[in-house]
Amino acid sequence: MNKIRIGIVGYGNLGKSVELGIRQNEDMELVGVFTRRDPSSIKTVTPGVNVFTMDESKQMTEQIDVMVLCGGSMSDMPVQGPEFASLFNTVDGYDTHARIPEYFAAMDKNALESQKVCIIASGWDPGMFSINRLYAEAILPAGDTYTFWGKGISQGHSDALRRIKGVKDAKQYTIPKDQAINAVRRGEMPELSTREKHWRECFVVLEEGADKERIKQEIKTMPNYFADYDTEVHFITEEELIKDHPGLPHGGLVIHHGRTGLDEKHHHVIEYRLALDSNPDFTANVLVAFARAAYRLNREGVSGAKTVVDIAPAYLSSKSAEELRRSLI
Ligand code: NDP
Repeated sequence: MNKIRIGIVGYGNLGKSVELGIRQNEDMELVGVFTRRDPSSIKTVTPGVNVFTMDESKQMTEQIDVMVLCGGSMSDMPVQGPEFASLFNTVDGYDTHARIPEYFAAMDKNALESQKVCIIASGWDPGMFSINRLYAEAILPAGDTYTFWGKGISQGHSDALRRIKGVKDAKQYTIPKDQAINAVRRGEMPELSTREKHWRECFVVLEEGADKERIKQEIKTMPNYFADYDTEVHFITEEELIKDHPGLPHGGLVIHHGRTGLDEKHHHVIEYRLALDSNPDFTANVLVAFARAAYRLNREGVSGAKTVVDIAPAYLSSKSAEELRRSLI
């Protein structure tokens, strides 16, 4: 069997997790990692993995079937995505929800020109949550869908804390409110404000001599990040942050409450829950499964940008259609 040859673009949390994820898929092999940094400065998780400059990828179009793009969504992906779409099949976890249509258009244009398949916005949200929202709304069109995130670390909010003057390090948990989840589960179809759905808990390590009260105030009133939420701030030591808040857990719930029957008297609940020990590991494994789909679709002559909801589920599995019919259907 010819293995699917994968390249990883960008070697942060997600890139490292993709490297590990590929090892769990026998039909795949890792060709190498591509980085903007000096390749000799990169220590890969598995010793012996090839590390290349971004420029070297241009000469490797015949050696790589799918590039898994692992740059940051804010500033890396809008540039790197379309560049790689001109040369390779790609998969990414682009997660700036509001800009997905714009990003899709740029990827689609280049992927159609290069005749490659580029699956964007994979991961868990966007990604698996998007698929579950679609199934729920398609099957039970009379109803409402709610998404809750957490409990988990928001890297964006943790970064925002670290940018405050006097903060040495910090982690922020997004936590859904039980009261809101329970109301949705009971089928009350509540209208929930931002503050009613989630709260935020911050664990902050201060620089020596920093002003606690000023920092607490700055956090609680920070627009777009904390001002619209109930926010608790705890000041802790660097040792406590390392010991009590390791890793990058996350997860959440998609709940759909629908009605059917005469006078819509029957109520149905669809619930999809993720409890992830490691956000990058799970996201990486989703990207790896979608890399298989990108490869297969392209071999069938398909090209252009796709999102997760455009991909038939069987394309994700390493099992044959016959095996799937026997074991899962
Ligand atoms: P990181 O900040 O760890 O990595 C982003 C990029 O920064 C890397 O590709 C790497 O590029 C560079 N980088 C990483 N570490 C260093 C370093 N020590 N020094 C200098 N540069 C470094 O981001 P994550 O991997 O955690 O996440 C990537 C994106 O994945 C996020 O922006 C998010 O949008 C998305 N994501 C999507 C999810 C979803 O559900 N759809 C879920 C989770 C994340 P290079 O090697 O070229 O220097």
